[in-house]
Amino acid sequence: MKIQVPKGTQDILPEDIEKWYFIEDVIRKILNKYGYCEIRTPIFEHTELFVRGIGESTDIVNKEMFTFPDRKGRSLTLRPEGTAPVIRAYLENRMERISKVVKLFYFGPMFRCEKPQAGRFRQFHQFGIELIGSQSPVADVEIIAAALEIYETLGLKGLQVSINSVGCKKCRKDYIGKLKSFLENKKEQLCFECNNRIEKNPLRVLDCKNIKCRETLQEAPKIIDHLCDECKDHFEEVKECLSDLKIKYTIDERLVRGLDYYTKTAFEIISGELGAQNAIAGGGRYDNLVEELGGKETPGVGFAAGIERMIISMEKQKVSWPKKQYLDVFVVKIGEKNNIVAFQLLQEIRKAGISADLDYAGKSLKSQMRTANKYHVKYTVILGEEELGRNMVTLRNMETKEQKEIKINNLIDELGS
Ligand SMILES: [Zn+2]
Ligand SMILES: [Zn+2]
Repeated sequence: MKIQVPKGTQDILPEDIEKWYFIEDVIRKILNKYGYCEIRTPIFEHTELFVRGIGESTDIVNKEMFTFPDRKGRSLTLRPEGTAPVIRAYLENRMERISKVVKLFYFGPMFRCEKPQAGRFRQFHQFGIELIGSQSPVADVEIIAAALEIYETLGLKGLQVSINSVGCKKCRKDYIGKLKSFLENKKEQLCFECNNRIEKNPLRVLDCKNIKCRETLQEAPKIIDHLCDECKDHFEEVKECLSDLKIKYTIDERLVRGLDYYTKTAFEIISGELGAQNAIAGGGRYDNLVEELGGKETPGVGFAAGIERMIISMEKQKVSWPKKQYLDVFVVKIGEKNNIVAFQLLQEIRKAGISADLDYAGKSLKSQMRTANKYHVKYTVILGEEELGRNMVTLRNMETKEQKEIKINNLIDELGS
């Protein structure tokens, strides 16, 4: 029986790896430019972190986590997202002592036990940024601007920014009361899941993708009309700052993050190719999350984005990928002997900073030359037994097909020129 990759996972093969290098490189360069430092947290954490940091009533925690006991029976979970681990690390390492505002980003695999479907995987990759310790509306805009700059640098076009405000603990209470009484009157028009949510988490009803629910919710009271003065001012400043920076946005009143620790700004970046329901990045403020995870009251804002979806969008838009890196030099050996000599020479070439390889399969001269062609090398260095005896090698320029005999000692200079 052949062993295959587990359902919902995939290999990233050598022919695709340049894309990943390119994307990772753009993300790191831009985020470093914005003053963010990378943090790498473990792939698994105590389950409790995600239950508190994502929310007990969410689909992720209820249905999608890979949870397993360790050998002593303690519950561990493969991370389904990056924010909770970053906040855990922020608190555990007391990063607030170093600086009042801490700017971090992460990049890596995440795990969710979803039904596999196009563009969704059980092991997928995300990058995200967290700006911890600032109340400023400008911080919200920095997050959006950084995300947009990354996508634009990658060559994506036609991106749309949707924003909303989800209020704060103070103003949301009042609103939720009004929303609940609206929903209670519409029970028959709402789907089964929405009916379950009315009591537990009515905000999440606004998120429902069901067409009938969406229609019914058109008349629902909007949180944006029920913001307190502080939240209203914050939202106005975010909008003003976006406009001043000429970042186009639309207000999406349905955009909610249904948990108590999400506050004020919520946003999504949508790529036309993926359809309106498929944001390529989403984020917002979480002024109560640090406290929820056991820290002092500390504001924060961030976003997360999936890499696989990004690649799908880039491919649909026919973005040009950087050229594949090929080898510079291939060392070709004639005859049975001189294996070690050939390898020593190969290492010298590599130490000079030139990429090079040779054949380890014992191929014929003709077949070695074919391999050299396949690698698109600029030069082949041909080692003949008789020439080596005279400390000479043959250098062939693969573009011009010119071939000359040179002294071994001059080889590196010739290759470098
Ligand atoms: Zn408020
Ligand atoms: Zn529904």
